[in-house]
Amino acid sequence: MLTGVQIVLIGGDARQLEVIRRLSEMDAVVTVAGFDQLHTPLDGAVRSEMNEELFRHADALVLPAVGTEDDGQILAVFSDRELVLKDEHVALLPKHCTIYAGMAKPYLRLLCEKYGIRLVELFDRDDVAIYNSIPTAEGALMMAIQNTDITLHGSSCMVLGFGRTGFTMARTLQGLGAHVQVGVRREEHLARAYEMGFKPFHVRDLLSYVGNIDLLFNTIPTMIVTAQIIANLPSRAVIIDLASKPGGTDFRFAEKRGIKALLAPGLPGIVAPRTAGRIIAECLSRLIMEETSKRGNAQ
Ligand code: NAP
Repeated sequence: MLTGVQIVLIGGDARQLEVIRRLSEMDAVVTVAGFDQLHTPLDGAVRSEMNEELFRHADALVLPAVGTEDDGQILAVFSDRELVLKDEHVALLPKHCTIYAGMAKPYLRLLCEKYGIRLVELFDRDDVAIYNSIPTAEGALMMAIQNTDITLHGSSCMVLGFGRTGFTMARTLQGLGAHVQVGVRREEHLARAYEMGFKPFHVRDLLSYVGNIDLLFNTIPTMIVTAQIIANLPSRAVIIDLASKPGGTDFRFAEKRGIKALLAPGLPGIVAPRTAGRIIAECLSRLIMEETSKRGNAQ
C-alpha cells in the first residue's frame, strides 16, 4: 500500500485517469493539476493549481508520457491552461522525491540533474515497453487495415527491427496469417526469427528484399527506409513507421513516389488509453512502493 505517500500528478491524457485511480486505490495522497476541464470525479484525488505547496511535500511527481516539452510545457488534454514545469518548481521538491515520466526530453533531464532529483523514464523499461508493444501492434494493424484493400491474411509483410515492438508486431501479423519477413542485425535474432517461422534477413541486405511486399512496418529508430529502398518498393506497398519521431522513413521521397507512408507515434495512448494507462499505473505503483520502502528502511 502507499498509505500517506504524497504523489503529485500534473497533466496528461486519459491514461493518467487510470494512474490516478490505481494510486488512490493504494491509499496514496494524490494531488493533481491540469484536470480543470474534466467534470467527472477523480477517484479521491485532490485538484490543485501549480503552486509552491504542490511541490514542497511531494514524495513523487508524475508527469505524462512526454514528461515536458523542451520549453517546460506539460501536455494536459483536460485543461485549457498552460502548464509549465519551471526551475523554481523542481527546486522546491524534497531531495528524496522522484520524477516519473514516460520519457524525458533534455529540458527535464537537465532540471533533474541540476537539482539532484531522481528521474525515471518508464517507457525505457523492458517490462513497460513489452506490455506497450501489445496496443502498439494492435494500433498498427488498425492502420494497416484502414490503408490497404487486401486482407492481412496472405499478405506479404516486412517488419524492420526485432526488439520489444518488432517482435510483437511480427508475431501478431503471423497470427493473422500474413507472410512475415523480419529485418534484423544480430545473428541471434536471425536464428530466433527463423525458429519462430519468420523469413529473417540481415537489414544491411534490405534492398534485395523489398521488391514484393504489401506492408512494411518499421521499428528501427534511425533512417533505414531510405529513398533508395522506397524506389524499389512496389507501388502498392504501404509503410507504417512505428519508430519514434521523426521515424526511420524518407517521407518526402515516399510522397514524391506516391507510396503511402505513415508515421504512427503514440499508438497505445490513441487506440487503448485505458490499457495503456493500466500498464503505466501498475509499474508506477510498484516502483513508488519499492522507493518508499527503501526510504523507510533507510530512516
Ligand atoms: P528496441 O527494443 O530497442 O528495438 C529496436 C530494434 O531496432 C532492435 O531490434 C535494434 O536492434 C534495432 N536497431 C536499432 N538501431 C538499428 C540500426 N542502426 N540498424 C539496424 N537495427 C537497428 O525498441 P522498441 O521498444 O521496440 O521501440 C522501437 C521504436 O518504436 C522506438 O523508437 C520507440 O520509441 C518506438 N515505439 C513506438 C510506439 C508507437 O506507438 N508508435 C510504441 C512503442 C515504441 P538490436 O536489437 O540489434 O539493438
